[in-house]
Amino acid sequence: MRYLVMAAALTTALASPAAAAPKMVAKDVRVWTAAETARPDQLRLLEQVVNIDSGTGDVDGGRKVAALLIPRLEALGMSVETVAAEAPNLPENIVGRLSGSGKGRILMIAHLDTVFEPGTAAKRPYQMTDDRLTGPGVGDEKGGVVQGIYALQILKDLGFRDFAQITFLIETSEERGSPGTRKLIDKPLKVADVELDLEPGDPPDVLTVWRKGSNSFYVDVKGRPAHAGIAPQDGRNAAWELITSWRR
Ligand SMILES: [Zn+2]
Repeated sequence: MRYLVMAAALTTALASPAAAAPKMVAKDVRVWTAAETARPDQLRLLEQVVNIDSGTGDVDGGRKVAALLIPRLEALGMSVETVAAEAPNLPENIVGRLSGSGKGRILMIAHLDTVFEPGTAAKRPYQMTDDRLTGPGVGDEKGGVVQGIYALQILKDLGFRDFAQITFLIETSEERGSPGTRKLIDKPLKVADVELDLEPGDPPDVLTVWRKGSNSFYVDVKGRPAHAGIAPQDGRNAAWELITSWRR
């Protein structure tokens, strides 16, 4: 008998139980001003990518979003490579690389796939109501993709090059567990000094430095067959064994 066990609780327990509230650092006025100035352009790009459906497995949609993003990465001075997905029916992943003049290898990972079906963007497109944006994937994670691009744009505009390398990996199958990107993610992760995941963070808009995780594993339990009529005492029931050993 084979049992699939989800282990969210286990990995939650391994995360720091007493993570302190993050400290707010003083605003860098130059960065802050540049970010405020960039906001209208940033929202325009966000609107464009949100209004293209790119649910996981929507190859055409994913490529259309990529066609908007790749020139933006190139304009940042990045060398950009598209990498075939490691599973069928997925659009290519995008890897942008930028060399600096300092130390520190930074990896940024985001995904352009969403959980929404084709036609969703037409039904409920990008919309701003007061200070709230809605639309398929606007937070998870097209907002993160665009945020990453504009963070790099601001660094470029401010002439900040104090890093050895920035790698920006935009993958296309995260919402289904990244079957198209596993190996591609592994390589830069091993050499990165820090990895920034561009998923939405926690309020009040700070870097999230720990989260719960989840995992799954299989447990094989073997029983022992025996004749039910003449020697039932020699048999062992796999389900019973699993339940009772779980309690031990
Ligand atoms: Zn996400």
